[in-house]
Amino acid sequence: MNHYKTNLRDIEFNLFEFLKVGDWYGTAPFDAFDEDTAGDALREVERLSREEFATSFVEADRTELELVDGKIALPDSVKASLDSLYDGDWHLLGIDPDLGGFGAPGSLRWATSEFFVGANPGVFLYASGGLMAKVIATEGTKEQKETWARWLIENRWGATMVLTEPDAGSDVGAGTSKAIHVEGDTYHLEGVKRFITSGENDYFDNIVHLVLARREGGEPGTKGLSMFIVPKYLVNEDGSLGERNGIYATSLEHKMGIRGSTTTELTMGTDEPCVGYLVGGVHEGIRQMFLVIEDARMMIGVKSAATLSTGYLNALAYAGERVQSPDMAQMADKTAPKVAIIRHPDVRRMLMLQKAYSEGLRALWMYTAMTLDKMHLNPDDAYWAKLNDLLLPMVKGYSSEKAYELLATSLQVFGGAGFTVDYPIEQYIRDAKIDTLYEGTTAIQGLDLFFRKIARDKGQTLMKLAEQILEYVTGGSDELSVERHALGAALEQLQSHVGVLVGYSMASMQEPKEIYKAGLHTNTLLESLSEIVIAWLLLEQAEIAAAKLPEATGSDTGFYTGKVASARFFVKDALPKVAIRTAAAQSEDAWLMDLPDEAF
Ligand SMILES: Cc1cc2nc3c(=O)[nH]c(=O)nc-3n(C[C@H](O)[C@H](O)[C@H](O)COP(=O)(O)OP(=O)(O)OC[C@H]3O[C@@H](n4cnc5c(N)ncnc54)[C@H](O)[C@@H]3O)c2cc1C
Repeated sequence: MNHYKTNLRDIEFNLFEFLKVGDWYGTAPFDAFDEDTAGDALREVERLSREEFATSFVEADRTELELVDGKIALPDSVKASLDSLYDGDWHLLGIDPDLGGFGAPGSLRWATSEFFVGANPGVFLYASGGLMAKVIATEGTKEQKETWARWLIENRWGATMVLTEPDAGSDVGAGTSKAIHVEGDTYHLEGVKRFITSGENDYFDNIVHLVLARREGGEPGTKGLSMFIVPKYLVNEDGSLGERNGIYATSLEHKMGIRGSTTTELTMGTDEPCVGYLVGGVHEGIRQMFLVIEDARMMIGVKSAATLSTGYLNALAYAGERVQSPDMAQMADKTAPKVAIIRHPDVRRMLMLQKAYSEGLRALWMYTAMTLDKMHLNPDDAYWAKLNDLLLPMVKGYSSEKAYELLATSLQVFGGAGFTVDYPIEQYIRDAKIDTLYEGTTAIQGLDLFFRKIARDKGQTLMKLAEQILEYVTGGSDELSVERHALGAALEQLQSHVGVLVGYSMASMQEPKEIYKAGLHTNTLLESLSEIVIAWLLLEQAEIAAAKLPEATGSDTGFYTGKVASARFFVKDALPKVAIRTAAAQSEDAWLMDLPDEAF
C-alpha cells in the first residue's frame, strides 16, 4: 500500500510565492541553490519519498523488533528505505560544504524533510547522523571536527541524542550518569539512559552517541552537565573500527507508534569501560545539546504537520469516492440518488477543518524555517535568531497537539473503514502521538514560551512580531476586512493574556504560590499565540492567492480559491477561542492547586 499523499503545490506556494525565497536563493551563501535547482530537488524528493522511502511504512510498523544479545536487526525493507535516502545523498542537503555537504538553505532542507518524515516517520528518525556531525563540528575541538564529524558524514554512521534517564525526563538536570576523568578529553562514563531513539540497530556500521553526563564534582541541575561523544565502536587512528565500547542496549521499548524506530535503554560502563570524549568545555553540555534539541523540535513540528497533511489528503480522496446517503437537500425523497460523502455538510466541515489547519501548521514551520535562512544572511541581526526561538515552541508544541487531535477527524471521514488497517490513518494516529511527548512535552513548550521566550526577553521579540501582524491588520485588503478585524481583536486579547501572566509572575516574588496562576495558563497562551501567528500567515497567503485568482488557469484556480477558503475558515474556527482563554487566565484564582489530591 502506498499510503503517502503529498502537497507539493502548497510547499512550492509557501516557498516561492509567499516567502519569496527567490530573493535570496542563488545568492551567497546559497549560490548553489537557485529557484530552479530548489524546485528540481523538491520534485525529486517528493517522488522518492512516495515511491521508495515510503515503501516500508507498514512493514516497519508490523514487524516486532527484538533485542537479542544486545543487537537489534531491522527489516530489509527498512534498510531499503534508508538506502534510497542515503544513496541519493539527501542526508547531505543541509550539511555545510566544509563537512562535505551541499549547504542548502534551511527553508529548502525543511521543505524536503516534510516529504521524508511524512512518508515514513519512524524510519526517517534513523537519519540523524548529519545533525550530530554539525553539532560536533560547531562545538567540538578541531580534531573532533576532522575525525568524528567527518566520519559520521563520510561513513554514513548513525547517531543518537542521549539525555533521558529513568528519573530524569522533563527534568533533564536530575540526571545521575557520571563521567570520570581519565586523561585529556577522555572520560569513562557510568549510568543508565532510557528511551534512546536509534540506540541500537544493524543498519549502521557504527553509532555515535552524544551523551549528557555529570563530570565528578559537577554542580547539580543542568548546569553541571557536559556532553560526550560515546561511540558504539571505538575507532583506530587510521579511522578503522576498533573494539566494542562499553555502551550497550539493555532493553527495547515496545511502543504504540513509530514502531520501526528502535527506542532503547542504554547502559554505560557496567562490565567494561565506556569511553567518552568531552565535546568542547566542561559543563557546557546543556547549551550544546540544545543545538540538537532545537533541530529535533523543528523536525517534530514538521513531522506532525506532514502527518496531518497526508491524513487529510487520504480523507479527501476517500470522501470523493465513498457514496453514501442522498444529498441533505433531498433527504425526504427516498428515490433521490446517493452522493459522494464530500457533498454532506458535516463531511465538508471536517475536510475544511483538516485542510485549514494542515496548511496553517505548514505555514508556521515554513515561516520558522525562513528565519534560519535570514540568520545566515544577516549574521549581525539578532532578531532572526530570537524570532526562531519564539516560534519554536509553537512549531513543536502546538503542531503536535493539533495534528494529533485532527487526525481523529481524518479517521472520522472514513467511518468504520478508518478504524481498520486497510487505511493508514490508524497508524498515522499511533505514529503522531509521540510528537506531544518527546523533545519536551507540550507543558514544557508552554513554560518555555512564556518564561524564556517572552518574559526573559521582556516581550521584545513578541512585540516586534505583533507589530508586523498589526501592520497587516491595518493595511490588508477590503476583501478580507472581516478576518483582519478578527485578527486585530485577537491580538489585543493576547496582549492581555501575556500581561496577566506577567502580573502573576511578578506577584510570585512576594507570594510564591502566585506562580501557579501563571502555570495554569501557559499552555493556553501557547495555543492562542500559535493560532494568531497562523491566522496572520494564512491571511497573508490568502491575499496573494486572491490577487492571482483572476489570472489563474487549470488546477491553480482551485488551489488559490482553496487558499482563501483555508484562511477564512481558520480565522472563524480558531480566533474566537483567544478571548475565552484570556478571560480564564484573568479570572484565575488557582483554586485547583488548593484542591486536595484525594478529590481527584
Ligand atoms: C519513543 C520515544 C523516543 C524518545 N527518544 C529520546 C531520545 O532519543 N533521547 C532522549 O534523551 N530521550 C528520548 N525520549 C524521552 C523523552 O524526551 C521523554 O519521555 C520526555 O522528555 C518526557 O519525559 P518523561 O517520559 O520522563 O515524562 P515526565 O517528565 O515524567 O512527564 C510526565 C508528565 O508530567 C508533566 N510534567 C513533568 N514536569 C513538569 C513540569 N515541570 N511542569 C508541568 N508539567 C510537567 C509532563 O508534561 C508529562 O505530562 C524518547 C521518548 C520516547 C517515548
